[in-house]
Amino acid sequence: MPRGEPSRSRSTAGDRAAREEHYRESFQVEPVTRMADRVAAQVRDYIVDNELEIGARLPSERRLAELVGSSRPTVSQAVRSLAVTGLIEIRPGAGAFVLRKPTTAMGTGVQMMIELEPDSISEAVDMRHLLELAVVDVIGTRGEADIAPLEAALERLRAAHGSASEWIAADTNFHVTFISLADNRYLTSVFESVHDAVVTKAYESWILANETPPWLSGKEFGAQIALHEPIVTATREGDPEQLMAALKKHQLALENHMKVRGNLVARTSRTTR
Ligand SMILES: [Zn+2]
Repeated sequence: MPRGEPSRSRSTAGDRAAREEHYRESFQVEPVTRMADRVAAQVRDYIVDNELEIGARLPSERRLAELVGSSRPTVSQAVRSLAVTGLIEIRPGAGAFVLRKPTTAMGTGVQMMIELEPDSISEAVDMRHLLELAVVDVIGTRGEADIAPLEAALERLRAAHGSASEWIAADTNFHVTFISLADNRYLTSVFESVHDAVVTKAYESWILANETPPWLSGKEFGAQIALHEPIVTATREGDPEQLMAALKKHQLALENHMKVRGNLVARTSRTTR
């Protein structure tokens, strides 16, 4: 069955059966990934239950494997997938650290919807942008915002060229910090969920393979940074038009990236079958 099916259809019993079939199929194709997802949720719970603060170090992968009763490679994969969502940061040689506190359970819903209706990913990408635009209004009316955290987030992004997971953590941190300027926890929370789901899809092949993508060095890395700098500048200057243009440019780059990677991901999953 093509991966794109079914989508955007009414919820008839037939559709539901098809979706369940699709879900079962993906379960069989990627059992290791599903297991890693489950372990990722357990590690996330561990952070919440133990009230780990930002900057706190997670137990070693060996210890985590004992705690959740799973194998070390699965824990390793789970930890990397949490880094994708910007929840934790992996510092090579030092371990994994809490980057931000889990604030929402909505993410699971968004991820699930994309699993069930893969075609809806483009709508999630659009939604991500629509939510960002809410900050444009705020910037326009409020004028000066405290942008020190956003500038710090940009610095972190500039330093994030070690691995795909490091980049994604820094990128998520940047965009969530930006959205926080609107001072609305619901907006931040919904954005976080949608952004997580989108970047997980966009970059998962790099993360799972634990490879360093070519765009993390040289000219291409510079181009990535150049997509974010104007967002900071426009925010600092309280210029809604400039901000709108900067966000639009970032969005187009993300859409193009998704198209390119989409083909690659499809090709990879065919060969693994
Ligand atoms: Zn970005």
